[in-house]
Order: sequence, then C-alpha cells, then structure tokens
Amino acid sequence: MYNKLTVEDVEVKGKKVLVRCDFNVPLDSDGNITDENRIVGALPTIKYLMDNGAKVILCSHMGKPKGEPKPELSLKPVAKSLSEKLGKEVVFAADDNVVGDNAKATVAAMNDGDVVLLENTRYRKEETKNEESFSKELASLADLFVNDAFGTAHRAHCSNVGVSSIIKPAVAGYLIEKEINFLGNAVNSPVRPLVAILGGSKVSSKISVIENLLKKVDKLIIGGGMAYTFFAAQGKTTGTSLLEPDFIDYAKKMLQEAGDKIVLPVDTVITEKFDNDAPSKVVEGNIPDGCMGLDIGPKSIALFKDVLKDAKTVVWNGPMGVFEMSNFAKGTNEIASMLADLDATTIIGGGDSVAAVNQAGLGDKMSHISTGGGASMEFLEGKELPGIAALTDK
Ligand code: AMP
Repeated sequence: MYNKLTVEDVEVKGKKVLVRCDFNVPLDSDGNITDENRIVGALPTIKYLMDNGAKVILCSHMGKPKGEPKPELSLKPVAKSLSEKLGKEVVFAADDNVVGDNAKATVAAMNDGDVVLLENTRYRKEETKNEESFSKELASLADLFVNDAFGTAHRAHCSNVGVSSIIKPAVAGYLIEKEINFLGNAVNSPVRPLVAILGGSKVSSKISVIENLLKKVDKLIIGGGMAYTFFAAQGKTTGTSLLEPDFIDYAKKMLQEAGDKIVLPVDTVITEKFDNDAPSKVVEGNIPDGCMGLDIGPKSIALFKDVLKDAKTVVWNGPMGVFEMSNFAKGTNEIASMLADLDATTIIGGGDSVAAVNQAGLGDKMSHISTGGGASMEFLEGKELPGIAALTDK
C-alpha cells in the first residue's frame, strides 16, 4: 500500500513546482479538444498550487509524436482551455525542445501564482526511455515535483519517474491521491463483502487481474465475452461466441480453485450475426451451433444483482456484453444502474466500463471512476506502479 507525501504535506509558497498532468486529450482534425474530462480532472491540484502562491509549471504528453515535434500534437490548445477554466492566462511555453530557451525564459519570468504549460514531453525521444538527460532538464526548472498523471503511472518515463529521482520531495497531486485511496483500499483493506465484476472480451488480457482479485474478493462475477471460455471449461457449447481455446484449461483450474467464489452467467442473449439489428433470443446453458452470445440474459442479471446487493465494495472492469450496440447493452446498463443505487463504495476500473457507465449517464453516481485504463488494470493486478512508487514516502 502506498503512503506518499501529497501536495498538502509540503510548503509550496514561492516554489517553482513542476506538475506532471495527464493532458492526453482527444483532438478533432481542426485541433479542437473533443473531451475535456482530463483537463477538468487536473484543476483541483493546479488551483491549490496557484492559491497557495506556487509558480506552477505544467507538463504532459499527448498522443505519440515518437520523439519529435509534431505540430498537430502540440499542447497549445490545452493552454487555451486551461486559461478559460482557471480564469487566468496559462502561458504556453512553445518550445520544440520542451525545455529549450523559450521554456527557460518563460519560467524565469514567472511570478507566484502564475501557471505555465510546457510543450508535449514526448516531443523528446528520451521521455519514454526515462533517460537521465531529459529528466535533468525538466528537473532544472523546479524546486518541487508533483505527479498527478495516473494514466501514465504504470510507465517509467522522464516526466514522472526520472524527475522524481532528482527533485525531492516528489509528491502526489489530488488525482493520484484519490486513485491510491480508492483502488488501494478496495484491493488491500476493503470494507467487505468485496465483489469484483470482470467483463470485456478476453480472459487472456485479464489473467493477472483474475488471479490477484481471486485472492482478495468475496465474489468474482464474470460476464462479457470472456465468460464463454469459462462456459467451455464447464463443458458447455459456445457456438460462434468469443472463445480462447488456449485458456480453457486455465479457466478450469480457476473454477476448481475458486469454487463458488466465481459467479458466471446462467443465460445468454444470442444471435446469428454480429449486428445490432439481427434477431436475438435468450438461452440457458449451452449456446447452439452457429449462434454467438452478445450479452448476459435476464436470469444472469438477476443473479448478479443478488450477489451485489449486500456488497460494501465493488470494483468493476469490463462490460457484460457488446454495450456499444443498443440491443446488447442491457446487461451492462442494468449492472451500472444497480451499482449507481448501491449503498457501497463503487469503483469503475478504467477502460470500456467507464465508457459504459458514462453512456448510461451514471458516471456521477459512482464513488470513483478511475482515470487510467492501463494503470488501474496494473493496480488491480497487484503490480507496483513506477510513477507512484517513485514518489517520496510520508
Ligand atoms: P476489454 O477491452 O477486454 O474490456 O473488452 C471490451 C470489449 O468487449 C467491448 O468492446 C465489448 O463490445 C466487448 N464484448 C463484451 N462482451 C462481448 C461479447 N459477448 N462478445 C463480443 N465482444 C464482447
């Protein structure tokens, strides 16, 4: 369990504070930001530092410029958006070297409470290799480092791990602190019963999550396409449903070891074609030849709800069906609305389940929606996240 210093544990007044944010926002072809959630998420830490008299130097990556300047992946539009949201100009330090002459001069001219945004850190090829040269350049700008980018916490890059080894103390921002608290408590000291819900397409991509969570949870609900490999392990036919034959033995082993801890669907919405408008019906048990399961059926929804009703902590990763198609979204939506009304800590662990919960308009009814898909998966796998591990202990 992480016990890291946070922004509130250190004196920031008059200090030059380098803040690693996650401004990896989607842009349309005209360079307009199409989803500002990540910018909004970064505001509490930035505002705290401004209000407490720090000189706030923001940095982030965006997309994959692969180590060279790419104007279409410049962070300039983010500076504009931030300025509007903060009601104060955020000066964009345009600089192909990220920490070149213009960035240095812009930082040198800062007053307490000012905010500067550096250019995309991945303009520098050293960034994703965590090479010391770029880490030193970034660190030379500041007296204090704050990491608030959970989305990249599972990577060791210059702008999170590299700078943390040079600037001391290196502390957590509010976003990272919240992720550590919710995901960490859920996995390491949950209020029980703890129920995990796993779904999505593949067993193979979630093996480590299944193994780690089985050690911790009271019940593990498995839905979505990954359930059919477990069906096969139970000796059921799966028709043309998603199936990973190489993992049937693994699924058998999990079922033997976990006993009734694993809860599987008991019925399935099937169709002959992967098409929202294809006729569908519900079957229990075997899935007939030529048919594929695209959602959990009504009895499974009722069974899963029964397991969830007493839960005090729920962690959810992966949809129960092909929720992108409205006719196969019912299982996912029903679970989302059940969680929204549950008197429990509900944590949505990144990726497609976040999209599903937001699509159902229930995002603000959950206790916590993780901001990092890959990072939250690695957290649930029980792996150490280098971007957090590198921060200074309390
Ligand atoms: P993942 O990235 O592994 O969490 O998988 C998410 C994807 O799984 C979504 O795009 C869903 O459409 C897909 N999915 C969920 N259930 C099924 C299913 N029964 N058959 C095919 N794809 C599914």
